[in-house]
Amino acid sequence: MTPFLKTPIEYLKGVGPQRAELLRSEIGVATYEDLLYYFPFRYVDRSQFHKISDLPFLESSAQIKGRIVQVLDAGAGRGKKLIAKFQDETGVIDLVWFQGAKWIKSQLKIGEEYQLYGRAKLYGSAWHVPHPELILISEITQHSGLQPIYSTTEKLSSKGLHSRGIEKLTAQLIKLISAKIPESLPEQLLQSKHLIAKEKALFLVHKPLDFAQVQQARNRLKFEELLLLQLELLLRKHIGMQKQKGFIFSEVGDAFNIFYNEYLPFPLTGAQKRVLKEIRQDVLHGKHMNRLIQGDVGSGKTLVALLTMLMAAGNGYQAALIAPTEILANQHYETIASLLEGLPISIRLLTGSVKKKQRIEIHESLENGSLNFLIGTHALMEETVRFSNLGLVVIDEQHRFGVAQRAKMRAKNSTEPHILVMTATPIPRTLAMTFYGDLDVSVIDELPPGRKPVTTVHRYESHRLRVFGFIKEEVQKGRQVYVVYPLIQESETLDFNNLMSGFEAISRAFPLPDYKISMVHGKLKPEEKDFEMQRFVKGETQIMVATTVIEVGVNVPNASVMIIESAERFGLSQLHQLRGRVGRGAEQSFCILMTGDKLSKDSLKRLETMVSTNDGFEIAEVDLQLRGPGDIMGTQQSGALNLKIADLAKDGELVSEAREEARRILTVDPSLNANEHGMLRIMLSEVLRNKPDWGKIA
Ligand code: ADP
Ligand code: MG
Repeated sequence: MTPFLKTPIEYLKGVGPQRAELLRSEIGVATYEDLLYYFPFRYVDRSQFHKISDLPFLESSAQIKGRIVQVLDAGAGRGKKLIAKFQDETGVIDLVWFQGAKWIKSQLKIGEEYQLYGRAKLYGSAWHVPHPELILISEITQHSGLQPIYSTTEKLSSKGLHSRGIEKLTAQLIKLISAKIPESLPEQLLQSKHLIAKEKALFLVHKPLDFAQVQQARNRLKFEELLLLQLELLLRKHIGMQKQKGFIFSEVGDAFNIFYNEYLPFPLTGAQKRVLKEIRQDVLHGKHMNRLIQGDVGSGKTLVALLTMLMAAGNGYQAALIAPTEILANQHYETIASLLEGLPISIRLLTGSVKKKQRIEIHESLENGSLNFLIGTHALMEETVRFSNLGLVVIDEQHRFGVAQRAKMRAKNSTEPHILVMTATPIPRTLAMTFYGDLDVSVIDELPPGRKPVTTVHRYESHRLRVFGFIKEEVQKGRQVYVVYPLIQESETLDFNNLMSGFEAISRAFPLPDYKISMVHGKLKPEEKDFEMQRFVKGETQIMVATTVIEVGVNVPNASVMIIESAERFGLSQLHQLRGRVGRGAEQSFCILMTGDKLSKDSLKRLETMVSTNDGFEIAEVDLQLRGPGDIMGTQQSGALNLKIADLAKDGELVSEAREEARRILTVDPSLNANEHGMLRIMLSEVLRNKPDWGKIA
């Protein structure tokens, strides 16, 4: 990079050593470059103002000029809050802070004119504006154009570096950048994508005249950021492919063929066949397979995994299958053992509750190579578990496994075993492309024939009697019913009590001997859990009351009703997972989302989405909009991306464009040796130096 950009921030006029230290420790700004890339999160257009009387009718946030006339503390204990009465010529409204009240109170200046920015919310019967942004009118810049608003911290503000203070610094800095910011994108690309020059973008993002300029600047900067990221991912993938050789499964093998021709209970779906072919291509050519199978709940991923495991066995390799919970590992074990009955394949189950004697047996048969398949939980990753020739690892429901754990399994052989990851939580394409940049992705986008889509409805507490009536009808028809309660760590005891009182209410409404009820929750011992689960699986009980322990994988085709209690407290992907527990048999199935009356906008959106679609990918898209990529992928991974301006949730289109462009560039110039790619090469090598471990993600 140019020395100019690396200039320590303390040399900028108005900074000095003390502020420099604060800028570094508070917001990570140490150089000119860092400050240039510290972007405003919003812009104020001083020509547009609303009135307090407009507030209840505005869809989006409002900007109002007014004065604070009174400040008071209200509420007590956890409900403590700070209220400020804010007045303009059309009325008065309450501004409310639930956090940071003490500091905010010390900052508010009664009687002075402020510009307020925020969104009105109905609270009881009164409108108020929670946690508004307030800027003293006297501190608003007097230049034309939009005013940038920067995020700041308490400490920075106390040293004069509130948004306005930061704005003054960036204004200083952008005066200096003329002819100092080399262009990083090839001229032709700028033209074809209608992107403005980098220097201009960095100037305008801090000092735009209007929103069109903001858009231009941000678009250019986002594109560059995403292009670099995609180049990085593609390069890593490419390097990984060259370095890692995988085992070759030179033939499909007898185990596979016999099973496929004589044992398979039903024909594969077209999608299952297609994915198998993709897998076959990976393992046939000495490539190290690192493949993700995305498929909605019930799409038949297990069978694809099993066929791949048989391929490994037929070529003389062992295979392991790891599930996230003991119940699920059990179920996989039983399904697979019964499917393989009669075939000369030895298979064992290893979980935390396997007794020592059996464990030793398993270890021995693994090490002497007489065991073909090992199915289990995390227990399987322990160091004492050694294989004689592990050729394939299948990981089910990958969301629950961390990056480090996957790496552990890969390390169990000197040649890394092939890895097949299965997930029932579809990930939007743009995210998959980014987070799994070095994984190949297969999609099973077809359900086995004859499935009827689950009918989903939303019901309030007041409908409970009717819902119970419906359960009775279904049970009388011979069906089984799940009733699921939330269990969230922070309020574990409370949730547990809810589960228990729910169980009591259900026991009263559905008395013995006509009805038999199972209950499964996290406080049971594994054996007890398993026992209860098995009773339901065998049809000895008709109603299963449970927490989300039943969420993943469980397969009871006769269960046709899923009641989700306090459904507003579940995330979308969890709701979708739970719904996937029904609709597995031939009967019409139902999912009933029970909620209280008070629902937030996001909760409503989630419930509406569930009612309107059964498509996991569509649901994943909505989930991404509501939660953002960090929450979906885990902050650790999204942190590794370190995006400053692009947003994977909102910039899907740009992600695809950048991906395409990165591919094009690497096809014509794989080592970025061309002159026009010189800056990209320099920037990339800097990125790669700073994030050495990134390659092992996924
Ligand atoms: P998931 O993708 O959720 O793991 P499973 O592998 O558990 O789905 O499959 C769900 C159900 O569908 C199982 O009962 C399985 O036996 C059945 N199944 C899988 N593939 C097919 C197929 N091609 N035709 C009919 N049923 C199938
Ligand atoms: Mg499954």
